[in-house]
Amino acid sequence: ATDFGITEALKALGVNDINNGTSTGSNSFSNGDIIESYSPVDGQLIGKVKSTTKADYEKVMETATAAFKTWRTMPAPQRGEIVRQFGEKLRELKEPLGKLVSYEMGKSYQEGLGEVQEMIDICDFAVGLSRQLHGLTMHSERPGHRMYEQYHPLGVVGIISAFNFPVAVWSWNTALAWICGDVCVWKPSEKTPLTGIACQNIAAQVFKANGLPEGISCLINGDYQVGEFMTKDKRVPLVSATGSTRMGKIVAQEVAARLGKSLLELGGNNAIIVTPDADIKMTVIGAVFGAVGTAGQRCTSTRRLIIHDSIYDKVKNAVVDAYKQLRIGNPLDENNHVGPLIDKDAVKMYQQALERVVEEGGNVVVEGGVLEGEGYESGCYVKPAIAEAENHFNIVQHETFAPVLYLLKYSGDVENAIDMQNGVAQGLSSAIMTNNLREAERFLSQAGSDCGIANVNIGTSGAEIGGAFGGEKETGGGRESGSDAWKIYMRRQTNTINYTTELPLAQGIKFDL
Ligand code: NAD
Repeated sequence: ATDFGITEALKALGVNDINNGTSTGSNSFSNGDIIESYSPVDGQLIGKVKSTTKADYEKVMETATAAFKTWRTMPAPQRGEIVRQFGEKLRELKEPLGKLVSYEMGKSYQEGLGEVQEMIDICDFAVGLSRQLHGLTMHSERPGHRMYEQYHPLGVVGIISAFNFPVAVWSWNTALAWICGDVCVWKPSEKTPLTGIACQNIAAQVFKANGLPEGISCLINGDYQVGEFMTKDKRVPLVSATGSTRMGKIVAQEVAARLGKSLLELGGNNAIIVTPDADIKMTVIGAVFGAVGTAGQRCTSTRRLIIHDSIYDKVKNAVVDAYKQLRIGNPLDENNHVGPLIDKDAVKMYQQALERVVEEGGNVVVEGGVLEGEGYESGCYVKPAIAEAENHFNIVQHETFAPVLYLLKYSGDVENAIDMQNGVAQGLSSAIMTNNLREAERFLSQAGSDCGIANVNIGTSGAEIGGAFGGEKETGGGRESGSDAWKIYMRRQTNTINYTTELPLAQGIKFDL
């Protein structure tokens, strides 16, 4: 049996020999409990990693704080040069890293490569940005005065990430934080610790080659308790956390209690509106990829299709037909469309969702189920399912992180569909399929979609790094990646300089001595 080049990939990334958890080969001091990383692809143990204890964490923070003193004084374009080199290393290691992402997380090899490509793209973006950390200048009301603003680095940025984008989310944060002059401490998901170590190894090589302290990039391992070290730590001015809304609500409160900043990227409940003017062929591709890609484990996965009643049956039949073509199996085998869920807990949640939708009165049109037998030994492979449902169902209001798609019907004007699309607690990604300009513009207007991402004739998943990424409401309000998302990684300072021999006060206040 082929191992799809996994052994080689692990070796190339320096994570082939991790069975006692000590050899992170990088800036990690880990002496805690062992975390075992099993692949959802074949159920095999990939490696064992030690988690970070409180004492280890203190060492990490010392290293990070010391590294910040060097890093913050390096000119931003020079920091950009380091990020450029990091991007080059990622280009070299794209295939092994993409493979490890696929093997440890379970997404298809193509999506694993895509994730690494996203890391490369954000590095390129950050390099350019390193010469564009612009502040404004403004005219002072006082004669002989100059006023301007500067952006300065914050210090240690804490990054807590989810299992489903085990490497890209880290790089969205680090590439920007680094050019901004911050140092980063990363706690990857306890479900994907090896991709974390692989990334840390790559970053460490680049810092070392440039004679820079490795503490610019630090890694801590473990579950939520290790995350809490950072959320409760005053030395971490910004915590960027990606994961469930449940986690975000806790993290937001912990960080706010010490008046720190948090950047939250939480759950979605994304819909595609399909109007009578939709191109059905495009709709099917967008909806099916959106619902089953990454086995429905993207924050931007399509959960709901809101279809006009006049074309409901046509769209339903086309989507159901497309589901018949889906091949489920080893995601490293490029013939397959759908890989496994991350673990058996995720499988349970998927099964519960399918039971719940029926209990609430839904009608299953594509049956789900857990796959067994050869190739499915990990117990994590499930059949993508479709159910006809109503928007108000509890289960529809909830993000199930699995390939379950709900078909919802609307009638009348597109406004009714927009109300349904907005009628959930989450606000990440949304889309409309239409060739009708009025409908499209209404959807994008201030009276339209309330999400952070709103697309026309594109599905809900697959964002580009150039735009700011994130969502509203229970998605947490944070923005990462492109546009001016960099600003959250810096502190703004307003400077006023008086170059006269007088000291006039602002607002014309007289204070004679
Ligand atoms: P999760 O919330 O279970 O875990 C995410 C991370 O938070 C993990 O590293 C975990 O250890 C940590 N964590 C959990 N509780 C914590 C606490 N109290 N304090 C500190 N850290 C804590 O999420 P998951 O199952 O890994 O990921 C799936 C979820 O992530 C989905 O809801 C998905 O929509 C969301 N997600 C959102 C985005 C986005 O950009 N909006 C991107 C990817 C994933």
